[in-house]
Amino acid sequence: MDKLLSIVIPVFNEGEHIKNSISVIRGFLEEIEINHEFVLVDDGSKDDTWMKICEMSENDKDVKGIRFSRNFGKEKALIAGLNEADGDGVLFMDSDLQHPPRYIKEMVKLWESGAEVVEGFKEDRGNESLVYRFVTNSFYRFSEKMTGIKFLNASDFRLLDRKVILALREMTENEPFFRGMSQWVGFKKESFGFKVDDRTEGRSKWSMKALSRLAVNSIISNSDKPLKFNFAVSAIFAMLSLVSFVFVVIALVKNTVTPALICVLILLTVAAILFFNMGIIGLYITKIFNEVNGRPRYIISDKVSANNAGKDTAKNSVKTSEEQ
Ligand code: UDP
Ligand code: MG
Repeated sequence: MDKLLSIVIPVFNEGEHIKNSISVIRGFLEEIEINHEFVLVDDGSKDDTWMKICEMSENDKDVKGIRFSRNFGKEKALIAGLNEADGDGVLFMDSDLQHPPRYIKEMVKLWESGAEVVEGFKEDRGNESLVYRFVTNSFYRFSEKMTGIKFLNASDFRLLDRKVILALREMTENEPFFRGMSQWVGFKKESFGFKVDDRTEGRSKWSMKALSRLAVNSIISNSDKPLKFNFAVSAIFAMLSLVSFVFVVIALVKNTVTPALICVLILLTVAAILFFNMGIIGLYITKIFNEVNGRPRYIISDKVSANNAGKDTAKNSVKTSEEQ
């Protein structure tokens, strides 16, 4: 097959096994004899990940490396990868082999037979604690209702045709949510189920904080329903306060205090709801702020590829996403 397949891999502190992961993935690519390039995005690793990427790039002309100036998060690393990929198709996968490369053959087959988005759904989510699974499942169900985008068991393990990549490059939101964006663009979709393998080494790089930020952002980026929902809730409470006003009037006439106390209770509840509303509106305002202040989504401090491997990469230094 003379098409070029780019494999975009976000890498964060995976120095101990990144070389092994790449050689395992390469094995599967060679088996199906497809032209390929690796686009490895070092998301501000603190270990020797970048050194390992440079070594690989020196030895293999099919390895491109991009290094962020700090940790910007997996979502932005995926976006940087899709901006740098030259392939006719781009395969996105994790660096810890949890997206098993044995599925690449099937994915490429689906792509060759006309699918423009080949998305992997987790059949079995590997080693996740029951609590973690319960929390994520509930969150995903809620998000699906809010946004109409499939989250449950969805993954970033996907192959996108160049057409889709070009469409995604047009989406310049500051807080990208890759999985949501690549569903939003449409195109001809095929999905397949895969079993999540155990991590090769190291541990998951997600902190609870990063996960919750991603969770909130996935809703805020894809839906304005929370705003509308709060309108409805505040309308209900406005009516309640009207009723409580009637109670106050009656209490005044009858000289009894109990209804007034209830009113205080209601008013306090209303105040609580209002604060909640303001919190949600605040989230949107933060989002608008981030979009409006127009900062680059990420900053690239170094790049290596077959053409400049091993050289001082000062030429490429400090490229922002806007300059790409
Ligand atoms: N990753 C990243 N930046 C981060 C966290 C993770 O680029 O801030 C990469 C990581 O190196 C891996 C992929 O994203 O290739 C998935 O991360 P991890 O395995 O830690 O997450 P999990 O499998 O638990 O979802
Ligand atoms: Mg993992």
